[in-house]
Amino acid sequence: MQNKLAELLEGKTSVAIGGHVRPDGDCVGACMGLYQYLRNNYKDIETDVYLEEIPSHFSFVKGTGDIRHQVQPGKTYDLFICLDCGDAERLGFSGPLFESAAQTFCVDHHISNQAFADENYIVPDASSTSELVFHLLDREKITKEIAEALYIGIVHDTGVFQYSCAGPETFRIAADLLEKGVDAPSIIERTYCEKSYAQNQILGRALLESIVFMHGQCIFSSVSQAVMKFYGVTPKELDGIVSQLRITKGVEVAIFLYEQEPNVYKVSLRSKEKVDVSRVAVYFGGGGHVKAAGCTMPGTVHDVINNLAGQIALQLEPEETKTEEA
Ligand code: 5GP
Ligand code: MN
Repeated sequence: MQNKLAELLEGKTSVAIGGHVRPDGDCVGACMGLYQYLRNNYKDIETDVYLEEIPSHFSFVKGTGDIRHQVQPGKTYDLFICLDCGDAERLGFSGPLFESAAQTFCVDHHISNQAFADENYIVPDASSTSELVFHLLDREKITKEIAEALYIGIVHDTGVFQYSCAGPETFRIAADLLEKGVDAPSIIERTYCEKSYAQNQILGRALLESIVFMHGQCIFSSVSQAVMKFYGVTPKELDGIVSQLRITKGVEVAIFLYEQEPNVYKVSLRSKEKVDVSRVAVYFGGGGHVKAAGCTMPGTVHDVINNLAGQIALQLEPEETKTEEA
């Protein structure tokens, strides 16, 4: 795939890179890895990166200080490279730059991605978009800083190499990145082990208030705006709650909701073996992967859980699901 990027960049004078709203580790890693690569190797091309505010534990990644959070009116680019984003709407504020760019290229691993750009490199089996970006780059030109960004992306989308999306190729790439000088323990320390006291408290509260249903096959918890306000925690700081719910023994699907605005919930879904949560999320207008997906839903917590449970039940064994309700 190295030629693909070089071909697309031929004759271009300006490139914008953009990722999905509420950027996560893979989105930040893929965008910053590619950004640094273009800055180092295509000095004649004006390259800008557009992302919403990133979680503070990623701000040590090189180049994040250059991220643009606003679009200059009238600004257009020869090429827009869209990373880790399943549809154009998920680009958020950088969407107009995608629409106005002379050419667009999408690199992604979301199963829900419908190949919406002019050129698409979409591999749903890939661990992460950062892994795909790695394939686009000339390995000789991957610096320690680029390797660090891509490694963060892989680590965060594989749950530190624990999910099934981390296959042999993922480990080979991780090894190549380590050989570039990435300090793996320090990345884990800086991006997972610096939770604030308030974050741990809200995690504890979410676990305490979690409810198991459908004969122990589903678990959910929710956090209201009032609770976030009480602990002084923002939605970006709720990361990790859903994965903690997911590891409950016997659970097939974990659901975490936080209240985005009154009676509107952001839904995070995680599954183990039996349920393709991307199908559930897509049904409610969202998207994602087989084992990790999300959407936004209106209603009370009760409405949202009941609606989700209805869709999840369709994928679970009928005799295990028919009697209990959320
Ligand atoms: P999370 O639960 O961590 O927010 O998201 C899990 C996965 O689902 C991520 O890959 C994320 O990009 C995707 N996802 C989450 N929310 C949405 C959504 O509202 N729309 C789409 N298309 N994908 C989402
Ligand atoms: Mn990703």
